[in-house]
Amino acid sequence: MKSRVGGVAGVAPRQWGSAVPALIVCLITALAGAGLGAGEPIGGRTAILCARLIDGVRDTAIEDAAVLIEGERIVAVGGREIVPEDARVIDLGDVTLLPGLIDAHSHPLLDSDDYQYRHLSRSSAYKALRALKAVRNTLAAGWTSIRIAGDADVHYAHLDLRRAIDEGLWSGPRIAGAGHYISNTGGGGDINFLSPEQDFQADGLVVDGADAMRKAVREEIKYGSDWIKLLVTGAFMSAADNPRDVHFSREELDVAIEEANRRGVPVMAHAHAAEGIKMAIRAGVRSIEHGTFIDDEGIRLAVEHGVYLVPTLYIGDYFIEKGSDGEWQEKSVELSKKYRDLHFEGVRKAIEAGVKVVVGVDLGGLAYPAEKNAREFAALVEAGMTPMQAIQAGTRVNAELLGWEDRVGTVEVGKLADLVAVPGDPLADIGLLQRVDFVMLGGAVIESP
Ligand SMILES: [Zn+2]
Repeated sequence: MKSRVGGVAGVAPRQWGSAVPALIVCLITALAGAGLGAGEPIGGRTAILCARLIDGVRDTAIEDAAVLIEGERIVAVGGREIVPEDARVIDLGDVTLLPGLIDAHSHPLLDSDDYQYRHLSRSSAYKALRALKAVRNTLAAGWTSIRIAGDADVHYAHLDLRRAIDEGLWSGPRIAGAGHYISNTGGGGDINFLSPEQDFQADGLVVDGADAMRKAVREEIKYGSDWIKLLVTGAFMSAADNPRDVHFSREELDVAIEEANRRGVPVMAHAHAAEGIKMAIRAGVRSIEHGTFIDDEGIRLAVEHGVYLVPTLYIGDYFIEKGSDGEWQEKSVELSKKYRDLHFEGVRKAIEAGVKVVVGVDLGGLAYPAEKNAREFAALVEAGMTPMQAIQAGTRVNAELLGWEDRVGTVEVGKLADLVAVPGDPLADIGLLQRVDFVMLGGAVIESP
């Protein structure tokens, strides 16, 4: 697997330089006032004190903990005794400190209500600007890494966005992901609501046949995709297709995965239908997205092949609560209601069986508040995880899915200092993860109370 880790660590606008104010209160105020413009690690050694630390590895929290940071990395973790005399101290008080949250399924270009429709009226550049705002909101809500599951642009606006963040022009989360969702004619990435006389280019890549698939995968990698996203079955949000149907032939699937894997690029498969899930696992994908109709055999295969399941449970409730405000959403709301129980039951069985179930939100655009992303943790608890399991699913296990486990996902010596804090104890109330008020990215304070 390719192992690039994006993000701004160590590269950023210089406005804060090295003249750090002596008083930590001033520092915090200044950085918080700068909002997301600041991206420079604090100079020297900094100790963060917290009432509780969830490190992403241990099954219990560490009380009265300290994390020592130098530059962009964590250099010590433990009790207050690890704090050297010359370290700057950020005492966060009665908070729980956690690894930066990781969303394994994000769509920053996509407003939840414009699927396949509004992209026709928005240029790639305009979408990149909107997505810049969206990912900065996402970072401010505690999500320091995201994996994009293809996005709504004929071009590659979000990969340009990633480039701008990596070059230090803006701070933003570390980004991995696919350029587009690849589907077939009439599939979830095609535009299915127009009459046959109309000829528009879909925002997804539409391919038919093995040769077209091979070319599509090569093109995605050429323009910077470090994941390939395949819509193996029908979808919930697109017109005129059925999530119970398998769309790609075995040949198309095999070609896509063989081509991607030969280049060291992993594949994520959008798959609702039980048969599509099993086909995708057997063909060699790294993760199954949604998995709505996963059956016992699919669960067994996922365990056997070490495939991750990204169930994206909360987005269904988001649509149900919001209701339909246009004909494009009616299908999502209807199907989300119809299949909610079945989906949760399948995920519950998968968790019990030991499938690597992780946090993926399936939202990420500007249309809704980014703190709602954390509702996915509560959904996983409803599906049978303990709060600690859910937190690990959105930190350490997601880092493993991304292949970034050597750098992010836990609070351990040597890791990048991606840290977030919430007031109180999320093990007692998982909903507190919606209230992240301290965010550090690679040693730089991004948000502070
Ligand atoms: Zn998605």
